Amino acid sequence: MDQSEQRIKIAVQKTGRLTDHSIGLLERCGLKVTKSKDQLICYGENMPIDLLLVRDDDIPGLVSDDVCDLGIVGLNVVEEKRLQLEQSGSEGLFKQIFELDFGHCRLSIAAPEGANYKGSESLNNSRIATSYVGLLRDYLNKHEIDAEPVFFSGAVEIAPKLGRADFICDLVSSGGTLVANGLREVAVLLQSEAVVIQTLAPLGDEKQALVDKIIQRLDGVLKVRDSKYIMLNAPRSALDDIRALLPGSEAPTVMPLEGSNDKIAIHAVCRENVFWETLENLKAAGASSLLVLPVEKMLP
Ligand code: ATP
Ligand code: ZN
Repeated sequence: MDQSEQRIKIAVQKTGRLTDHSIGLLERCGLKVTKSKDQLICYGENMPIDLLLVRDDDIPGLVSDDVCDLGIVGLNVVEEKRLQLEQSGSEGLFKQIFELDFGHCRLSIAAPEGANYKGSESLNNSRIATSYVGLLRDYLNKHEIDAEPVFFSGAVEIAPKLGRADFICDLVSSGGTLVANGLREVAVLLQSEAVVIQTLAPLGDEKQALVDKIIQRLDGVLKVRDSKYIMLNAPRSALDDIRALLPGSEAPTVMPLEGSNDKIAIHAVCRENVFWETLENLKAAGASSLLVLPVEKMLP
């Protein structure tokens, strides 16, 4: 078989909110790529993985059409594409396989300040500006609301001021943009974050094994993000108190200290950040020689 066919292609956003996180995560999984943001393709130097840099809206289609094996994209874009395909009578040939815990946002309906909104029935007979017509229609159908989606490809938040819509349906993270435009969030349609999608086309054993390896590494990278390795000494009698204070840790390693009968060393991986307050509380419980180290990689 042609060597190039055994390479994995991953579609990632070319320039935008997801780009740095997407490429950064893959790099933390061990991938080195030739970097040039003007390129369409970044070739993997040390693994048979190449990145296709594209607009985020094109990613589900590229994966569905089997041009790329994997894609990293917001769930909002994935769900919108899935609904569009469903509404046109076809099915999305991709599956969502992993959540990446970045790019968090929500798709919400917002009303102009001062609008008389008393629950979803207030949307009846209104026009709602959005780039997410599929997701909005789905919400309106489920809530039996008779409203008209008005497609805007960008700058949705100015539609009410232009007199083109009564409400908007758009992505929100902090809510600052809404406030700046005199809008108030009134309903959440979808909670979104970046996800990995995979083509439904069979990849073959070799490529699937590589995909499984990437996912396992991604899982390892995400798991250790806030993890710390903590080491301390303590009197054996303080062990229970100290265990209770260690944040998000599983069974710690307990070792005798050479030359001391009642003192022990405790080592533990804490799945949460360890703050100064925690260290001070540990010290008050009898701990000494405390050391907190970052965790770089973890494999179960
Ligand atoms: P492209 O040129 O690739 O089409 P875009 O303008 O559609 O870019 P971005 O604004 O970069 O896309 O957003 C990409 C993704 O980031 C969104 O689809 C969403 O999943 C996520 N995101 C997180 N927070 C926000 C936010 N506050 N507003 C918009 N998108 C957000
Ligand atoms: Zn886009």
